[in-house]
Amino acid sequence: MLTAKTKTGKTICLGYDYKRETLLYFRNNEEFICPVCGESVSLKLGNQRIFHFSHKKGGVCREVYENESVYHMEGKRQLYQWLIRQRIPSSLEYYDSEIKQRPDIMFKHNGMKYALEYQCSALSEESFLKRTQAYLQHGYIPLWIMGSKNIKTKRKNLLTLSSFDYLFLRESRHHQFFIPSYCPENSHFVILGSIQPYSTKNAFAQICSFPINLAGLDEILHPKLINQLNFSQWNQEAERYNLNWSFHPSPEQKRFLYEIYNYGLNLFLLPPEIGFPVPQSLHILTPPAIWQTYLYIDNFINLKAGDSIRLNDVERNFNKRIKKKEILIRNHLQLIEQNPFVAVKEYLFQLEKLGILKQKGGTIFQLVKKIEIPKSNREREEQRRIFFQINQKLLSKV
Ligand SMILES: [Zn+2]
Repeated sequence: MLTAKTKTGKTICLGYDYKRETLLYFRNNEEFICPVCGESVSLKLGNQRIFHFSHKKGGVCREVYENESVYHMEGKRQLYQWLIRQRIPSSLEYYDSEIKQRPDIMFKHNGMKYALEYQCSALSEESFLKRTQAYLQHGYIPLWIMGSKNIKTKRKNLLTLSSFDYLFLRESRHHQFFIPSYCPENSHFVILGSIQPYSTKNAFAQICSFPINLAGLDEILHPKLINQLNFSQWNQEAERYNLNWSFHPSPEQKRFLYEIYNYGLNLFLLPPEIGFPVPQSLHILTPPAIWQTYLYIDNFINLKAGDSIRLNDVERNFNKRIKKKEILIRNHLQLIEQNPFVAVKEYLFQLEKLGILKQKGGTIFQLVKKIEIPKSNREREEQRRIFFQINQKLLSKV
């Protein structure tokens, strides 16, 4: 830990760059106690680790707060100094005795109280959600920043994101979703934006890195991200993914394959209009190819050109699939107003741009053109080629 109190109640915060001599003087003349449990702590001034306090006796505190890596301690120290430089009132390792939680940094900004958690090690999803919930209930805005070393890049712009990683997701005031991370080793923020999952675990994303000195708090809370996607690359990976799982489908995937087979569909003969990225599909755990196929079966398959589709029906069908766990939703508690149906609406508007649907009034769409289901691989390839040629511009803006 980096913060302790003296017997006279003074706070000593090692977030500041104290000289070793000054700390040696403190150590010889003061006794330090832990602000959380009130037990004695000693000031460690070794050469290997960064200066820190350590409980003299074991106990809960030691288990909870002293397992921090150098990476973590150094990261929160740098983030704290960064806030202080911006004259943002901040406390390092602030202990809120009411909720018995100690965010790495508490700070106040634009009349709001923030709990910054710099998370470098694995934490159970349950603890993450419990801590987030307690912050929200007590008027804090939780701000989880991931340790950049935990970002798992497969290739340029292609990441593996676990369901734990998705818990870090935030929404900016520009309505963009992103994951903030920080690396103390090169003092850079790394922002993952424009996240486009094509499978449960893998996604394309824009990875934007910049030095901490060039960033203000606002750039981390509301980064301006460029939404762009190499659609053909995305599509290629999505197809490879479908091929892979079809060899060893899980029980849910088997159920999906069986159902679409009963409708005369085949995973490898899906039209290009089914299974493409929309900005908010990251709220849906089920891959786009699957949830959009369900959407097609539930709402479009029997329609003729000119028929109407009611948005309420689409939503009811979507919710039924969720209830039956055929479509799974991601749980991001930091985004309180998260609504996965937004992704479905985005998809319908995308179909409108593709000339398949036309909106008639607020909640009714009309089918303009039936989605053509290819009957052979050759037909499918030809359909795709034409589709990408015509819609290249539109799809690059997803
Ligand atoms: Zn303690």
